[in-house]
Amino acid sequence: MQMFRIVRFFVVSALLFGVAGSLSFLHSAESEPSKPYIFLFSGPKGSGRSRLVVKVHTLFSVPLISTAELVMDHIHDDSELGKMAREQASKSCAFSNEYFFDALFERIGAGGCQKGFILDGMPRTLDQAHSLYSKLSNTFNILAFHIDVADAWLINRVEGRLVCPTCGKVYYSDEGEDESKMVCETCHTPLQRRQQDTPEVIADSLKKDHIEMDPIVKFYANKNILVTVRGDRTIDEMFNDIVKIIETKTGLKPSISCRVADRWLEQ
Ligand SMILES: [Zn+2]
Repeated sequence: MQMFRIVRFFVVSALLFGVAGSLSFLHSAESEPSKPYIFLFSGPKGSGRSRLVVKVHTLFSVPLISTAELVMDHIHDDSELGKMAREQASKSCAFSNEYFFDALFERIGAGGCQKGFILDGMPRTLDQAHSLYSKLSNTFNILAFHIDVADAWLINRVEGRLVCPTCGKVYYSDEGEDESKMVCETCHTPLQRRQQDTPEVIADSLKKDHIEMDPIVKFYANKNILVTVRGDRTIDEMFNDIVKIIETKTGLKPSISCRVADRWLEQ
């Protein structure tokens, strides 16, 4: 297993340095060779983080590496990582950092990450954030977007949240709007309020988010890789800011128009 990991490390390093080498050749006027970017997104539940991740992935055509999907894939196959995932899953619901980084390196080595990638589901702990930075910042630039929004604003917003029980689409009622008359615009099913959408449940969940995320966000700030996005706005307003920042900082250009991306996401 150790040998397997060492061999993989060299394969991934060779691939990535190959990428960095070709970029530095293309941009030889620059003093620093360009490195591909890892995009991280953090934010409390209800901040719109997941939707922003999918929108950035669609617009810029950079791979979206989700640790949850990697775990699912491994559990279904019989590779070394599959065995490791199954063994850890049978003991507890938490996976080791060793497993996550092996899984991540394998996925990067599988290709498609020359322009960079979005990493979703990681880091979850300060320890993981440190490891991610120390293992990957030599090869990649890291840009960590954090959606910053006050707890009170989120609690207030969740109180107006309604869900379509048929297709799962989420809606928000306006103040004074008669919620019993609201129907899903896609499938016309009357909307419902979810049981867990109470101020108490949301406040409790936000408390857990703060304990988990605050030290990580502070770490990003100290490393000068943090981009704070004001979260008390619509998804589109936040997305427009994020797109501008990615274009300015990384030189990446949208591979399709925002309108086409939205149409795809609507389907
Ligand atoms: Zn619906």
